[in-house]
Amino acid sequence: MNEDLVKRSWCEVDLVQLEKNIDLCKSFLPRESEIMAVVKADAYGHGYENIVKTLHSYGVSHFAVSNINEAIDIRKMGIVSDILVLGYTPTEKAELLLKYDISQTILSEEYAIELSKACSGKIKCQFAIDTGMNRIGLDADNPTETERIIRIWSKRFNVTGMFTHLCVADMDDEDSKLFTINQINKFERIADSIKDLQLAYVHCLNSAGGLFYKSRYNKMIRLGIVMYGLKPDRHNVLPKGIKPIMTWKSVVSMIKEVNKGETISYGRTFTAIKKMKIATIPTGYADGYSRLLSNRGYVLINGAEAPIVGRICMDQFMVDVTHIENVNMGNEVVLLGRSGHKEITADDLAEMTETIGYEVVCGVSKRVPRVYI
Ligand SMILES: *Cc1c(COP(=O)(O)O)cnc(C)c1O
Repeated sequence: MNEDLVKRSWCEVDLVQLEKNIDLCKSFLPRESEIMAVVKADAYGHGYENIVKTLHSYGVSHFAVSNINEAIDIRKMGIVSDILVLGYTPTEKAELLLKYDISQTILSEEYAIELSKACSGKIKCQFAIDTGMNRIGLDADNPTETERIIRIWSKRFNVTGMFTHLCVADMDDEDSKLFTINQINKFERIADSIKDLQLAYVHCLNSAGGLFYKSRYNKMIRLGIVMYGLKPDRHNVLPKGIKPIMTWKSVVSMIKEVNKGETISYGRTFTAIKKMKIATIPTGYADGYSRLLSNRGYVLINGAEAPIVGRICMDQFMVDVTHIENVNMGNEVVLLGRSGHKEITADDLAEMTETIGYEVVCGVSKRVPRVYI
């Protein structure tokens, strides 16, 4: 581990487990499928530099990001693979797309027009098709018009593919299943209608899609969350062996006793009902540790659960360690991950803070160093 690491609040990212997760993903995906690794938002908070390098040397040769800066950074790392920007790039950056050989998603016909005005070169593009999410893409409910748009703009851009995005593939109620199948059918219909264009990459499955659905257009699967070992929805069951690759740790910075009746932290929202042993942890909401965990969450110390007492501060919070033996200054604390036989998952933290695991890992702030093991 890095000698310069300041052991205040840090994340350990397990790159060997990342490779295992990729292998396990391959075992549930069709043999002909290639993985497009979704590494947007700094690889879901895991740090894209090391994630991309590991995946690249492990044979993954397609990457998807959310914006052009992420794409350029990855290109500058010397990655020669395909890089797709999944969302909006201001058209004044069009020349950069060309310069760095980055594929841009076409969000709408209006976007295609503006992009074509901004740059005379043949930018690499993929069409987004909207099959019901109503976020971006050409309207799949208007297949004739959508086919026309794709055909026209295929002459102007270097169109390498098209894709759609599923919005309830992680849910297993009947309505969601029908909706997802309908999304896939609508997409396949459009893909069939332009088959003669021989687009190299026609894809519609994300992690949940790859886990639970099939499509004839499965040459490429866009994997995000499952690669990082997390579930699209906390009720999902992942194939055995896929595990989270991020552990978030901190330390005990101080131990003290408080007497019955004393209060803890801002707002005095916690009152000791007996004499208690309290540990201070030097991580706070500025590190991305949600303030919603105040009086609600817990951490793991020596394999035991230590409940959070009082409000989370910007850089620190307090936990009750009355019941835990041998807690000392400098003791490691697990905020996210395993300690002994216990585990706090991103989904656990998400449930306590009314969000999803995705937001928990993306939310670990830049101030928290990522170390790779
Ligand atoms: C984020 C994203 C993905 C990855 O989704 P996961 O659920 O993390 O697999 C795939 N496709 C698009 C268009 C996305 O925006």
